[in-house]
Amino acid sequence: MGSPTVAEKYSAEWIREQAQEKGAHWLVSHDCSLCGVDVGWIIDGDYVAYRSGCGCSWSPDRPSSYAEIARSLEIQRSDEVRDQIMADLK
Ligand SMILES: [Zn+2]
Repeated sequence: MGSPTVAEKYSAEWIREQAQEKGAHWLVSHDCSLCGVDVGWIIDGDYVAYRSGCGCSWSPDRPSSYAEIARSLEIQRSDEVRDQIMADLK
């Protein structure tokens, strides 16, 4: 057994567990480069939605999933960045 891959380490199931343990309902994806408002996911048990509205653009919440969060973590540059994103789970 080698070390786990990114997809194994930051799996959708793992993210769900982290959210449940923390009782979290919000995970920041990034902040808008123009207005600085956080963009991210609303989490409520099995319900996940991506909220991309911010101070300069409005758009409705889009149905999302833990799998989508996992994919977005997977494309980050390093585990350090992934851990920073997950540390903001609240
Ligand atoms: Zn903005």
